[in-house]
Amino acid sequence: MNEIILKPGKEKAILRRHPWIFSGAIDSMTGNPENGSLVRVYSKKNEYLGIGSYSPHSQIRIRMWSFADEEINYDFFCQKISDAKKKRLTFINKYKDSAWRLVYAESDLIPGLIVDQYNDVLVVQILSSGAEYFRETIIKALIDVTGIENIFERSDSEVRKLEGLPERSGAISGIIPDNVEIVEDGYRFLVDIIGSQKTGFYLDQRLNRRIVADYCSEKNVLNVFSFTGAFSIYAIGSGATKVVSMDSSQEAISLAKRNHILNGFAENDHQWIEMDAFMGLRKMRDQNQKFDVIILDPPKFAPTVSHVNKAARAYKDINLLALKLLNSGGILATFSCSGGVSDALFQKIVADAALDAGVEISLLEKLSQGPDHPINLYYPESAYLKGLICIKN
Ligand code: SAH
Repeated sequence: MNEIILKPGKEKAILRRHPWIFSGAIDSMTGNPENGSLVRVYSKKNEYLGIGSYSPHSQIRIRMWSFADEEINYDFFCQKISDAKKKRLTFINKYKDSAWRLVYAESDLIPGLIVDQYNDVLVVQILSSGAEYFRETIIKALIDVTGIENIFERSDSEVRKLEGLPERSGAISGIIPDNVEIVEDGYRFLVDIIGSQKTGFYLDQRLNRRIVADYCSEKNVLNVFSFTGAFSIYAIGSGATKVVSMDSSQEAISLAKRNHILNGFAENDHQWIEMDAFMGLRKMRDQNQKFDVIILDPPKFAPTVSHVNKAARAYKDINLLALKLLNSGGILATFSCSGGVSDALFQKIVADAALDAGVEISLLEKLSQGPDHPINLYYPESAYLKGLICIKN
């Protein structure tokens, strides 16, 4: 097996169990490891640090599988997937939901592997060259640990390019329906796992939907970036008088309408708007529309810190517009899933938006991702979802 020696001092992050080694940390190596293959990692003083997969095309040159001296094989992946499943079993029964993230990459110590479970269908994303190298072993381990054979791969994320991997999507085994109907908190949702964005449903917002819904009873609600209407369905279910949902994707709006009917809600009480949010919010402001609760859950404006300035402007823009549309005493539930925008920065952006809108707000609650997206404390990058529930005075 090829060996890597790190530059002096560069072992510190690994000793603190951060699973990434950047290209600049490498002093020397033996051989010419192929994409994703295993390498043993040593400090400059020749201490063994662990074993990882080598990614020659990526700035993240090595992702560590283990900080011990162990084999990376079928048994290893069975153990890790079984550990991941055990973590979910601590809360799944409590909520009686039928969908959750089963494996969350670095947080479950399987860098580059994401697995979402929708009833008896698993949607797999393989995002690193190491996970790709072990693809067949991982799939076999996944089937054996879960007993689920219906596996669909959605490795069609842009990040694969950075790893020198082509995008791939398609059924791996079993029977894959066009839409899977899941249950979340008693609500029913159709998930389009084949054609949809991401792996089909924003599972990371599961608990936040419950929290936000509690503010919606008897209220007039605007849900911006609504996707397939999950926050809207919860709001309607909690007794909102009217819910307006907005998304730029025609497919998302059409599935949202089907979800609405599926839950038995009267069709005409609510409104589904297919429109760009930046335009739609301006239009509503110009028409002097007002709402009691506004939910903003935009896509990732800043995937990395390099996009942060542009993203900050976009976040500020939508938050400022939303604050103008809010009645006094109204609630703004605003989210950012951008890894490149820190907690503190997001809070500052919302504060700046309030300042520019000329309104006073107070922060009532701070939200994060659900427990099926656990945070690896040695890998702070795994904490990415931030939510603020603010009240306008
Ligand atoms: N809140 C949703 C998830 C939102 S994901 C849920 O709980 O399920 C972000 C959504 O923003 C996607 O549905 C995407 O289609 C939509 N979107 C992206 N850019 C947009 C824009 N400029 N205007 C309106 N919607 C947009």
